[in-house]
Amino acid sequence: MLRTHLIVQTARDRGYAKVMMGESLTRVAIKLLTNLSLGRGAFLAVDTGFTDQRHGDVMVVRPMRDYTAKEIAFYNHFFSIPTVIVPPLFTKHREKPSIHQLVERFLLGLQEEFPSTISTVYRTGEKLSPEPAKASSESQRCLLCLCGLDTDGEEELALEPTLILEEPAAGVESKAAYIPLLCYSCRLTFKELGPLDTLPPYVRAEGQRRIRRAEMEHDQENQESSKS
Ligand SMILES: [Zn+2]
Repeated sequence: MLRTHLIVQTARDRGYAKVMMGESLTRVAIKLLTNLSLGRGAFLAVDTGFTDQRHGDVMVVRPMRDYTAKEIAFYNHFFSIPTVIVPPLFTKHREKPSIHQLVERFLLGLQEEFPSTISTVYRTGEKLSPEPAKASSESQRCLLCLCGLDTDGEEELALEPTLILEEPAAGVESKAAYIPLLCYSCRLTFKELGPLDTLPPYVRAEGQRRIRRAEMEHDQENQESSKS
């Protein structure tokens, strides 16, 4: 997520309107299942679709998502195209390093015996439409992943009390104040996150701005109701 922020920001600085990602069919299928397990089901279409317009001025496209990793590897080999591979972050656990690697191992293992596995997962993802996760205003977007908030009507999530217990400080600087600004999946990530200092400064600044605005609106409503 933060890497996408960085790429989009670089594109803005250089004045590019589109960013092309190199995600292959294999990687899209793995991402589909990973995101599903991470609670990002509502944003599957935005996270893996051909176009991703959630950043507004910079559009992210995934032109390679129709080709499997194998096809791309063969193409690069026959036309001797140099390749760069960015490995995912490594952890010390060997058995179950992360949900992402677990899903990757599962899918690739299944693919060996049933060669249509990955394309089946991919086709299923293809049928999803990005419409449900649309946000009408800036404040209805998740602070971290910029998707339309999917948390309507389930405000009292089980993880909220645990967050509040951990922290005595209240107000703009408390972790609990950030919770309503995040989507379901980012709330889970946020819960695992350490202190607020670990957030990038621009995310914190935006979060504080939104919290203050929400407080001001709340105060205004209170004043109006007390007048009438
Ligand atoms: Zn989010």
